[in-house]
Amino acid sequence: MLRKPNGATIFPIDFKIKAEPLVIKNGRVIDPVNNIDKITNVILSDGVIKAVTDDIPAEFISKKSIDASGKWVIPGMMDMHVHLREPGREDKETIATGTQAAAAGGFTAVACMPNTTPALDEESKIRYVIQHAEQCPSKIYPVGAITKGLEGEELAPMGEMIRAGARAVSDDGKSVAKSNIMRNAFNYAKPFNIPIICHCEDPALSQKGHMNEGVVSTRLGVRGIPTIAEEIIVARDLLLAEYTHGRVHIAHVSTAGSVRLIRDAKKRGVNVTAETCPHYIAQTEEDVGLYDTHKKMNPPLRTAKDREVIIEGLQDGTIDVIASDHAPHVPEEKDVEFEAANFGVIGLETSFSVVNTHLVKKGILSPSEMVKKMSVIPNRILGVHGGSLTPGIPADITIVDTETPWKVDPKNFFSKSRNTSFEGYKLQGLVVMTILDGHIVFERKE
Ligand SMILES: [Zn+2]
Repeated sequence: MLRKPNGATIFPIDFKIKAEPLVIKNGRVIDPVNNIDKITNVILSDGVIKAVTDDIPAEFISKKSIDASGKWVIPGMMDMHVHLREPGREDKETIATGTQAAAAGGFTAVACMPNTTPALDEESKIRYVIQHAEQCPSKIYPVGAITKGLEGEELAPMGEMIRAGARAVSDDGKSVAKSNIMRNAFNYAKPFNIPIICHCEDPALSQKGHMNEGVVSTRLGVRGIPTIAEEIIVARDLLLAEYTHGRVHIAHVSTAGSVRLIRDAKKRGVNVTAETCPHYIAQTEEDVGLYDTHKKMNPPLRTAKDREVIIEGLQDGTIDVIASDHAPHVPEEKDVEFEAANFGVIGLETSFSVVNTHLVKKGILSPSEMVKKMSVIPNRILGVHGGSLTPGIPADITIVDTETPWKVDPKNFFSKSRNTSFEGYKLQGLVVMTILDGHIVFERKE
């Protein structure tokens, strides 16, 4: 058992042993797939959802139960953009600590990006991740590399990576520079019906930038990354997906122009989905303040106008998913001058609360829209069973308290790293329990 000073507790589970029956009573059950949003009970048995019902069957009345009064009971959330750093940088995060952070953040599944050392660019490396995930408190869907070694030159063996369990491909961290390689990737991925997840950045335009290019970068004297560096590749990858009839997922959308491009592509029928991250919803370039390296990520925090358009994109369905881009770094990579600091922030343990505070509480997203963007749609994009409380599917459930105010203190994180952009922020709502295959893997107890 791992317990933090605030009572957050991870329970080690032997997943080879089947979960005991469990009744979750009187919660507000929100399951958009089955059109449920009401106070009722959820019954779990043999590690799967047995029923969502107002009347608890006689055989379950004496079974273990949880009182979820005043809480929301939702399908387990999925974060489809996470860096677990293993293999290679276990000093930042491991598969074990990253999945503990996921469980504490209410995520019963994560998709992990392949820019590890070595990169996840062949069958054996995908298998390595999947084997290490077996006893972890969150499911892991590995994303394989588009190109060998993420070098942008030669396609990685997609077929064998998918057979080993990869659910998407990406060279996240950078774009595939050569358009012909990207075209081939779309063609090659098509028969497997997997998405290509695109990190959109033209290095010739963003070269040596450290934050958004604009008034704040000028004031601080820091070289900027223009919005066009992202948008030019968003446009290219949308065109390539359209041309090849392929599937594209645009990662971490940060600019108003990207939202407009994706919206137009969707209108034309391009097979595109897109994600943004909590920091682009809650923060802007102004938050960089005086060279705060914990506000340095790639793509960078943009302007208030970009943030406004991203929020509109979330509302009108242009942006399908909210993912954290959880990117752990050790203090030596962050507690340095701004230009020398690594890009990236962690997010698994604050995502839900940021979204609840900045979107749901403000009436921008309805509770069921939030569940769609953090559970239903990411599961659908990766083609896995999850994101609903349909009887028979694995009992992966998140229980959240949407009211309690709290202050972000990284010492309570299960992640190995502390590089959050939300330290000291006051947020509302907490994950109180995470259930994986019917087992309670995380609970927050006073
Ligand atoms: Zn990226």
